[in-house]
Amino acid sequence: MKNSDIEKLKLSLYECNKRKRTVVGVGNVSFGKDFIIIGGPCCIENEKETVRMAKRIKDAGAMMLRGGAFKPRTSPYDFQGLGFEGLKILKKAKLSTGLLIVTEVLDTRDVESVAQYADVLQIGARNMQNISLLKEVGCINKPVILKRGMCSTLVEWLNSAEYILSKGNSNVILCERGIRTFETYTRNTLDLSIVPAVKGLSHLPVIVDPSHSTGRSNLIEPLSLAAVAVGADGLLIEVHENPEKALCDGNQSISVDRFTQLIQKIKKISEFMNSIK
Ligand code: PEP
Ligand code: MN
Repeated sequence: MKNSDIEKLKLSLYECNKRKRTVVGVGNVSFGKDFIIIGGPCCIENEKETVRMAKRIKDAGAMMLRGGAFKPRTSPYDFQGLGFEGLKILKKAKLSTGLLIVTEVLDTRDVESVAQYADVLQIGARNMQNISLLKEVGCINKPVILKRGMCSTLVEWLNSAEYILSKGNSNVILCERGIRTFETYTRNTLDLSIVPAVKGLSHLPVIVDPSHSTGRSNLIEPLSLAAVAVGADGLLIEVHENPEKALCDGNQSISVDRFTQLIQKIKKISEFMNSIK
């Protein structure tokens, strides 16, 4: 890439008010323009349930299906995901519903192959400062959801986004997923203040993950509605047909029925927020 191109992509963190906001278009959705709702299980467990769930969340109003095939689990003895088999299942769910697919990539060696299945790649909190991985996804032609590291400041997060942008991939979506604080009641502490703060400093769309930030399914609805009110561009929510039986993160997953009801409430809050703009 030419130096002048790199300069164009070097989006000064503090000068974005002079720039146009980035809209990340993928298929029929536009992050930064429409309010995007992404739902799905923490990890892909099997084909039958994934395809059935994809149909149900689509009917509920979700625009994208997210499911993990490669899982960054805290314990090496926990289920690590189905890997490429999981990606093939996601593809089948896409074929039968038309839903766009979001999935996490953990390893630089897998970026190209995961990108063949996914419409949007996710970089998880644990890899927010995995510079090699950031550079690698910076070289592909697919949007990237970049989650905030659990101990990362706003500027560190934006610098990680810059790594992707500076390699030529301008389609980055930021995702606030909670940070570590002294509070242990919730899995993390959702930092909603970061949403308007980031919007004041960066041109990138920012979505909120109320599932990993709280670890508690009963907190997903109020925090989702609050995220809409503070100006988030979308939500990433863990949904499972039977949360008690989920192989991963069942405590923070909501049923499809609750997800359906939540989307109705989100629509109302969105309409209200638009009406007072
Ligand atoms: C996930 O989205 O499945 C995940 C592991 O989240 P985080 O990277 O935010 O912990
Ligand atoms: Mn999860």
